[in-house]
Amino acid sequence: MSEPAVNHIAILGASGSIGRQALEICRLHSGSLRVGALTAGANWRALADAVREFRPRMAVIVEPEAYAPLKAACGDCATKLYAGAEYLPQAAADSGADMLLAAISGSAGLPSLVAALEAGIDVALANKEALVAAGALVKRLCAEHGSRLYAVDSEHSALQQCLRGEERQAVRRLILTASGGAFRELSYEQLAAVKPEEALHNPNWQMGAKVTVDSATMVNKGLELIEASWLFDIEPARISALLHPQSIVHSLVEYVDGSVKAQLSQPDMRLPIQYALLRGQRRPSPLQALDLEQLGRLDFQPIDRRKYPAVELFRQAAQRGGAAAAYLNAANEQLVKLFLAGLIGFTDISDILTQLADGYRPLPANSLEQILSADAQARMMVKTLVKKAEVIC
Ligand code: MG
Repeated sequence: MSEPAVNHIAILGASGSIGRQALEICRLHSGSLRVGALTAGANWRALADAVREFRPRMAVIVEPEAYAPLKAACGDCATKLYAGAEYLPQAAADSGADMLLAAISGSAGLPSLVAALEAGIDVALANKEALVAAGALVKRLCAEHGSRLYAVDSEHSALQQCLRGEERQAVRRLILTASGGAFRELSYEQLAAVKPEEALHNPNWQMGAKVTVDSATMVNKGLELIEASWLFDIEPARISALLHPQSIVHSLVEYVDGSVKAQLSQPDMRLPIQYALLRGQRRPSPLQALDLEQLGRLDFQPIDRRKYPAVELFRQAAQRGGAAAAYLNAANEQLVKLFLAGLIGFTDISDILTQLADGYRPLPANSLEQILSADAQARMMVKTLVKKAEVIC
């Protein structure tokens, strides 16, 4: 195996779950991976620790009030420090990094992603919402500027691994696996009463709050279906999802000859992060070896459509095209915030998304402006439907 060239990574969202695990991977592979830029929202302590250790060329704290303590904590580091979201595109595209780890979730991560793609920089994509909202734009920019996308989502990393060396026309369908999230043992009727703190516990994965709630509603699987469709150029009708409670098989590809390839490993995000940052090079990782004898069995079940309407809802949005998926995605972001703040119930998330999807006529989504406009429209609609949303939105 040849050593990969040294890659300089801009890690946007460095204090979040993906960002922290990415720093661990950069520490482990310090001969191949250097940190070129770091950004965080308001967590200046985590950012200062990472700046002192990795000495990137630049660092951005989004919250302006966190700038002074960040600067004081960074001491005499040569890293240039900036405050404000307006510097995120510069960190992504103009810090000398040759890869962006896009780990700012939601539409807040879009401008920096677009800047990196316009600069021809490869992207390790952890922000699945970016492809959901702006898939056509992202793919067009990749084609125009030669940037490549590496999936950081575990399912999509699995698909990328299964598709390696295969002809695209030999693929019959993609099969995403789903853990079922926090409430997989509950009935549809029991779901209405669940509390935010219960939704924040995923039985298999350690993840950020937004994706953990999305796993419990299975909006996550709907978003991932659209993400897979864009990443692998396969229409949504040829992507299905399957409940797999052990989260050992991360996804599968079925080929025209009836053969099915799967990728198996411990449920640990450090593997997809490492595989993406090393551009598909295989290297030792911090993962525990998989012990199938000890595991004994792997289970698969169909997804209950009544309990989890979100998968089909997002599939339909993808098929409608335009800004339909961007609209639903933004509404979901707001609804998750409202649920976590205790202002709406758990099943309200899917109920309101269904209501919004029914009443929406998609507008075009060819530019960042059009996408952000659909995003803003969805957030307004959520405010209108949920009066209490004024408090936090
Ligand atoms: Mg995933």
